[in-house]
Amino acid sequence: MINIGLYHKYKVTSFIFHPEQGNYSVFTEKGKLLEADKGEVLELHFSSSGISVKSLDQDYGSFKKVRFIGTEPSNSFEIRVPFSKKTRKYEDNLFVNIHNYYNYFQLINNIDLDNYVAGVVESEVGRNPPSEYFKLQSIICRTYALKNIDRHSVEGFSLCHKVHCQAYNGKPKSVLIKEAAIETNGVVIVDSDINLITATFYSNCGGETANSEEVWRSKLYYLRTTKDTFCLKENNAVWTKKISKTSWKSYLKKHHAHDSDLNYECGTEYFQLDREQFYEKDNVKIPFVKIRKDFKLKSAQFNVIPDANYVILKGKGFGHGVGLCQEGAMRMAKLGFSYIDILHFYYEDVHMINLESLAFFKADF
Ligand SMILES: [Zn+2]
Ligand SMILES: [Zn+2]
Repeated sequence: MINIGLYHKYKVTSFIFHPEQGNYSVFTEKGKLLEADKGEVLELHFSSSGISVKSLDQDYGSFKKVRFIGTEPSNSFEIRVPFSKKTRKYEDNLFVNIHNYYNYFQLINNIDLDNYVAGVVESEVGRNPPSEYFKLQSIICRTYALKNIDRHSVEGFSLCHKVHCQAYNGKPKSVLIKEAAIETNGVVIVDSDINLITATFYSNCGGETANSEEVWRSKLYYLRTTKDTFCLKENNAVWTKKISKTSWKSYLKKHHAHDSDLNYECGTEYFQLDREQFYEKDNVKIPFVKIRKDFKLKSAQFNVIPDANYVILKGKGFGHGVGLCQEGAMRMAKLGFSYIDILHFYYEDVHMINLESLAFFKADF
């Protein structure tokens, strides 16, 4: 089981809970409060005396903690907060606390790891990819979750539901995603020292993935540059952006070693053949990742072509380029590669092992 912070940073002071599948036992710090079945609708409000729990016809009182625990093999519930028109569905259990410092709730989805993984996969990649792809994305999301299990430990849960950790919008609709999470149950990716890897991914590498140290500080042996022809015809393979010549030149000027002698005309053309780390020309040296950030570009791989009063940036790929290229991996899955082959293609010399084996390797002898 894993604890996921829901509505993290939203000030939830009331919500409606009702079981969608299975039954729920409701506990408080005083013991068991009630059994809630499908027909039950409970309203929880923040009040000066704590968390007040009411059904349509009964007031159960106020508490410090409320726990909704599913009693069947599979359980899910719906939740609705006042500021959202949509109800959200989550699997397994819900813990309700009062936030330490503020006057609002802390909602924690206490959920089976594979159920969570399936929810993340659907939230992150949607329902279109082939089922083999769902398997490798499940392994990546599981590896990420366990590697970052302490990310919000100070706040009392493991991971938040946002992109900050992994996007998680609750119970997935796709049966294929659910099956992929179950089929890869417990499988994670480890490096040569049997440590969980940093399983990074992004949309499209543009034909060549990046070394980890080109984007972040750390050099990880399994995040190496590799040529990838699988993604070249996919949606995010290429992009263009038009920027006024004036703003491009003044940007270069800011980074010029000797401001006064910048050769303006030379500065408006640049060809990056392979993935390069620096835009380096005429006494200007800027990391491509910085230009990407400053101009909010889809990737750091692009050529610069002058065009009248503009420069056209012609780019390749979408995302940081480190690790797995999602569009390339989806294409590989469609071509019949197995999820294991695909993971090995993007993460060099790693191993897929079961959590039980990981516990065995990590045990003290
Ligand atoms: Zn987070
Ligand atoms: Zn690619």
